[in-house]
Amino acid sequence: MSQQNGTEISLLGKDEAQPYHIHQAVVDSPFFLISDHAGRVVPERLGDLGLPRSEWDRHIAYDIGIREVGRHLQQALGCLLVEQVYSRLVIDCNRAAGHPTSIPPVSDGAPVLGNQGLSAVERMQREETILHAYHDEIERQLALRALDETLFVSLHSFTPAMQDGQKRPWDIGLLHDHDPHSARLMRGLLEDEGSLCVGDNQPYVLNVQNEYSVPYHAGRRNLPALEIEIRQDLISDEVGQRLWAERLARLLPLFWEKRKDMV
Ligand SMILES: [Zn+2]
Repeated sequence: MSQQNGTEISLLGKDEAQPYHIHQAVVDSPFFLISDHAGRVVPERLGDLGLPRSEWDRHIAYDIGIREVGRHLQQALGCLLVEQVYSRLVIDCNRAAGHPTSIPPVSDGAPVLGNQGLSAVERMQREETILHAYHDEIERQLALRALDETLFVSLHSFTPAMQDGQKRPWDIGLLHDHDPHSARLMRGLLEDEGSLCVGDNQPYVLNVQNEYSVPYHAGRRNLPALEIEIRQDLISDEVGQRLWAERLARLLPLFWEKRKDMV
């Protein structure tokens, strides 16, 4: 907590949003959805972090389209969804505390002035209030359920092109580390749709150094997990968001039946 005139100042004011939003399950479901980059709220105390308005509409602030896909998918499956509410520019909830890009001083070429020269106390305040609060809640929710009937699903979206303009060909990517079997099985189901280009650890490679949520919650427990990345131009409007949510809501139960046969 910061000290100002002898009074403790918290990062979030009394009326500000909680760091996570829970969509409760309405049926007994194996699917446990999380969305690390769903939100782009910034605590009032941090202003605009020194970034112009236009930057807040870009992928650097959040994963475009994924909040809506996650919500539609949660509705269709009736399962739990834990969403992060604050922008990854405040603190990236898919990075361990202290990771070089946890509180990025520069993001995709844009300097984030409000993240530069932070004191240890300021960093800790963001970690405690947003990062740890979110992951503690995921831990709490996992502790409430039967883990042998749980598929951990982490939802993300990626930009259609690299920074240098090179196009990314994949419609969807499955990232994996501790559970390549689940990724392979889901890739097969997606490829059976007939028209999809499915990335295998593309556009990113999942590992314990560069990511946090899946290794920390699922890898440590050896829980079956899928990390799903959808290309942002496919889910930038309501039609695309619904289409992808419906596709995943149809394929995930099929996946789960087949996954159970594997063990
Ligand atoms: Zn993401």
